[in-house]
Amino acid sequence: MQTSFIKTIFIIFISLIFSMEVFAKDKIYILPLVKQEDVIVYLKNNLSKIFSLEVEVLENIEIPLYSYNPRRKQYNSTLVLKELLKDKFKGYTLAICDVDLYAEGLNFVFGEASFLNKICIISLTRLRQEYYGLPKNNNLFLERTLKEAVHELGHLFGLGHCSNPKCVMYFSNSILDTDKKDFNFCILCKKKLKNVN
Ligand SMILES: [Zn+2]
Ligand SMILES: [Zn+2]
Repeated sequence: MQTSFIKTIFIIFISLIFSMEVFAKDKIYILPLVKQEDVIVYLKNNLSKIFSLEVEVLENIEIPLYSYNPRRKQYNSTLVLKELLKDKFKGYTLAICDVDLYAEGLNFVFGEASFLNKICIISLTRLRQEYYGLPKNNNLFLERTLKEAVHELGHLFGLGHCSNPKCVMYFSNSILDTDKKDFNFCILCKKKLKNVN
């Protein structure tokens, strides 16, 4: 009786150590393709709170030029992600750029995620009020960057789009959708997130 009790305690102890070790391997990396220190610091602090993970900022790199489409005057986000993958980043990588992005079949995208490769990208360009001919609003801009970052990272953690317009995983067709949603996950998405991690 006593032996089996000790055995159970031992198994619990080992699995606890194991789960902690697995958790420690999960880390979010911010890969800046733009020099915008305030955004990087803001995202680093807030993403670590939302995902309860350590966030590390990587060295700045240049956006791959061949992903530029001169006809559209936009960068192909799928090609950017493909190029970035050559550097083989470990953990969950969030690239941040400040050029207008598009994906095949879409006029533009706020970001794109590659679940299999654990890498995603967001663009700051369409998150500024000035882009829409409106006066600058830095708080609103930062809030939008967080929503887009959490959304794309949510895809890396296995979440799909959510039908709740308040949930961060709701698909943003326009900046109005982004403004309507929260920077956090709805209860259902939170539950799913717990199950995959
Ligand atoms: Zn999405
Ligand atoms: Zn949701």
